[in-house]
Amino acid sequence: MFDQFGRRVTSLRLSVTDRCDLRCFYCMTESVTFTSRRELCSLEELDRLCGVFIQLGVCKIRLTGGEPFVRKGFMKLVRLLSRHLGKGGLDELTITTNGIRLSQHAVELLEIGVRRVNVSVDSLRPDRFLAITRHGRLARVLDGITAAASAGLRIRINTVVLAGINEDELIELVLWSGDHGYDICFIEVMPLGSSGRYYMPISQVQTQLAQRLTLTASDYRSSGPAHYVHCAETGQRIGFIAPISRAFCESCDRIRLTCAGTLFPCLGQEQSVDLRPPMRRSKTNTLLVTAIAEALWHKPRGHSFSSDPVSNQPVLTNQPVLTRRMSVTGG
Ligand code: SAM
Ligand code: SF4
Repeated sequence: MFDQFGRRVTSLRLSVTDRCDLRCFYCMTESVTFTSRRELCSLEELDRLCGVFIQLGVCKIRLTGGEPFVRKGFMKLVRLLSRHLGKGGLDELTITTNGIRLSQHAVELLEIGVRRVNVSVDSLRPDRFLAITRHGRLARVLDGITAAASAGLRIRINTVVLAGINEDELIELVLWSGDHGYDICFIEVMPLGSSGRYYMPISQVQTQLAQRLTLTASDYRSSGPAHYVHCAETGQRIGFIAPISRAFCESCDRIRLTCAGTLFPCLGQEQSVDLRPPMRRSKTNTLLVTAIAEALWHKPRGHSFSSDPVSNQPVLTNQPVLTRRMSVTGG
């Protein structure tokens, strides 16, 4: 599957639900309205859609949300999708989670064939973690991470860098993750569902880390948009995802599917296609394949995030903020 700019699409992010048991302040408001249950695709439909994407060349699927573990039957979907691993065309099945419900599923995930989970940890201080997530108990997340690591899953910690909120903890997060053998990735906050007013460019993060740690450029490339450095003190790789200050659209191989069957070829644009009608109109996948191929061909050249040179705040070139939250398309 190629788009009109010659980029090959190989990676699918599937948001299995936009609901969540936390309310991270930069992601959603307390009183957020979720997709109604009658809009949802069933687990069987999500499995069918993923099967078609795999046929069309997707070889990496990341299950995300909202919080994927709050979707009823989520583990059934993971099990269904795992049949594609290996010779079935799927190289990688990963999950992005807030970690709250991870401990009870860790062993089963490994048995099914999941090898890595990404867990969001924006702070290692319980009171600050609670303030950021509005409901989250850090201890539960750390228990989830420990259980997953003990089960044999590789862990990547995702930290959204929030100016004035957790910027004083970045070194601590690196040392903690390095000590435990987890990878860590720092992410710029995007103007999705929030104004992004806590934006801090990744270059500042790197400068801050370099004051205490010995960082050298690494040519390691993961399947995602991160660029990496090597940290001499911990021996680990540190990833940086900088959608605002260092756009990676030229090499974008990703598409996103919501729990309502809407395909977003680009996270940072509103353009989308509802895949439910072509899926539900026929038992064969011909209409679906045509709709997907058409949508992918028109994948936008790039997102429209940038930062205002005066205020240094992230903005969209055509509007200040995309009302769609990250939990709709998944991270
Ligand atoms: N609930 C899971 C979690 O928190 O990991 C999965 C979904 S969450 C939307 C995926 C990732 O997106 C998390 O690492 C989260 O911190 C990040 N995220 C949410 N809103 C964001 C925003 N406006 N800008 C940048 N990252 C964001
Ligand atoms: Fe939930 Fe993840 Fe959004 Fe936090 S970032 S509110 S855990 S979906």
